[in-house]
Parts: sequence; C-alpha cells; structure tokens
Amino acid sequence: MGLGEFGLIERYFNAPGDEAAPRRADVALGIGDDAALLAVPAGMQLVAALDTLVEGRHFPPGTPPASTGHRALAVNLSDLAAMGAAPAWFLLSLTLPAADEAFLGPFAAGLHRLARQHGVALVGGDTTAGPLTVAVQALGLVEPGTALRRSGGRAGDLLFVSGTPGDAAAGLRIAMDTLPGGSPEQRRALLDRFHYPEPRVALGRALRGIASACIDVSDGLAADALKLAAASGCGARIESAQLPLSTALCAVAGDALARELALNGGDDYELCFTVPPGNEARLRAALQDVKCAATCIGRLETRAGLRLFAGGTEIAFTPRGFDHFP
Ligand code: ADP
Ligand code: MG
Repeated sequence: MGLGEFGLIERYFNAPGDEAAPRRADVALGIGDDAALLAVPAGMQLVAALDTLVEGRHFPPGTPPASTGHRALAVNLSDLAAMGAAPAWFLLSLTLPAADEAFLGPFAAGLHRLARQHGVALVGGDTTAGPLTVAVQALGLVEPGTALRRSGGRAGDLLFVSGTPGDAAAGLRIAMDTLPGGSPEQRRALLDRFHYPEPRVALGRALRGIASACIDVSDGLAADALKLAAASGCGARIESAQLPLSTALCAVAGDALARELALNGGDDYELCFTVPPGNEARLRAALQDVKCAATCIGRLETRAGLRLFAGGTEIAFTPRGFDHFP
C-alpha cells in the first residue's frame, strides 16, 4: 500500500518534530488549508523569488536526493540573499515519477536541514506525478529602500565575488565523470560544492548600505557580472589574476581550466557585488562580522561589455552563461 498524495505531504512535509522545517510565529495558517496565511510585519517589504530544478537539466540523474532537497531551497535563498532580504517562508512544488520513500526521506531531510539553518518555514506547496522537477518559491522581508539591486552600480565601483567560484562547476563535472585528477579529498570537496551550495544570506544582509549593486552567481560569474554591469548602465573589467581560485579547483582542473570554470562555470550561488571605493573599509568590517570571504576581481567601467585582463593586457574572452533557449 503506497503513501498516497496526502500521506506523503503529511509524512515528509508537514510532520511535526525535529526533522521538519521550523515553525514560525508569523505563520497564522500553514500547510493543510487551500493557502497559507502569513503575517508580514508592518512597514516591511515582501521579497519573492521562485526557481525550478529539473532532473537532467539542473542536476544529473543519480544525484543524491539530499542534494536535490538542499539545492532546491538553496538556489532560492541565494536569490533572496542577492536582494539583501531576510528569508522567512517558502512553498514547494514537487513533481515526482513515483512516491518513492527512498527518494523522499533524504530529499526532505536535505530540504529541512537547510530550512532550519536559516529559520525559514515551509508553508505550502503542490505535489504532482511526472518527471522529477522541484520548484521552490521563497519569501523574505526587507526594510523598504534598503534592498540590493543589480542596477545601482556606477563606473569606478569595485567588483567583488564571495567564496571561490568554479568549484561547483568542477563538482558537476566530477559527478558526471568528465573531470579526472586531484586527490579523493579534493574531488569530494568540489563535489560537495555542487551538491550543497551555501546561500550567502548573512552576507547579503550585511551588504545593505555598503554595496551599490548585487547579483547571485548562478549562470557563471562572467555572465552574471555582465548582467549586473548592464543593469547599472556600465561595463565591467575583470582581472584574471585576481580570481579567487580554490586549491582543490586548481589541483583537479589545472590553472587554465580552473580560470575558465571560475568565469563561465555556473552553479556557484556566490554573491557578485559592487562597492563604491569609499565604502571599502566598511565592506572589510562587514565581511569579518559575517565570516565570509570576498575578493575584489575588477571594477565597473563606462564602456559597455565585459573585458578580461591579465597583467595590463586584454585577453580575448566571451562570457558563456547558461541559457535554456540558446
Ligand atoms: P489544493 O488541492 O487545494 O491545491 P492540495 O491538496 O494540493 O491543495 O494541498 C493540500 C495542502 O498541502 C495545501 O496546504 C498545500 O499547500 C500543501 N502541500 C501540497 N503539497 C505540498 C508540498 N510538496 N510541500 C508542502 N506543502 C504541500
Ligand atoms: Mg494542489
């Protein structure tokens, strides 16, 4: 006897207890009715984001279910982080080939673990049969007038990226068995960066009032930096030598591929942001507060487009961000 649609929701998504997503006092009505009722604090702006993961498109078949649960929420928390929002609630639309408990158990555990880390409550969703597809809508809060946008940058602003871009792209290639090299520990570390990205929520909050523009890196650092620059009415210059490459990435991929993956790889879920030079000291203090590394990789310029430099010389380079309909 199977679980059934309602048994499945009850057991994996509405179960009380330690394994479930946290409850919040501002959820007046959660899972179980036709819609959720949420108490938005007076004077706050609601921030909404939705991202979908499709098997075979965003993650390869055979990906650990715990990773799929984690990533479905992480990619959405990353979008809220890029806006400087504090995440509060989320909804889950789950399309499953079968009510397979060997999938659902670790999937829900991966999802709820990240939800607990960030104090976000699962307040509803939808469950249907079909090819494995996971969509999450994340809702957060921000003080009006303080949200980070892509469009606030000015020529001369310094361009930063958090973490070590390229690791996740290498991890995906390791998962697909197309990237040999490195030690087992280095390979495991990169694979984890693809399977379990850490949304930079605290960093996004801390950048309010310091960064002039922000975007999260999902499609590739170069393509996303170019989107930020274009939205700001500028172009961008990236210094190849300043790219923060992890030791594991360089060991597994070698220097040239490491740089290519850092620029064009995608799936990093780091924040790429600009800071007016006058705010740099405040940025350094904020980075210490939230214990997050970020590296200056270039700057915004008046001239449109994205240029890559090594030493003083421009290198031929085309950002190749991910496009579902190229
Ligand atoms: P309706 O048919 O009115 O849309 P459903 O029967 O689909 O309602 O869902 C019943 C309740 O379970 C609703 O509160 C819905 O938000 C919730 N729900 C359904 N699927 C999920 C899921 N995957 N995760 C969390 N909540 C869910
Ligand atoms: Mg429904």
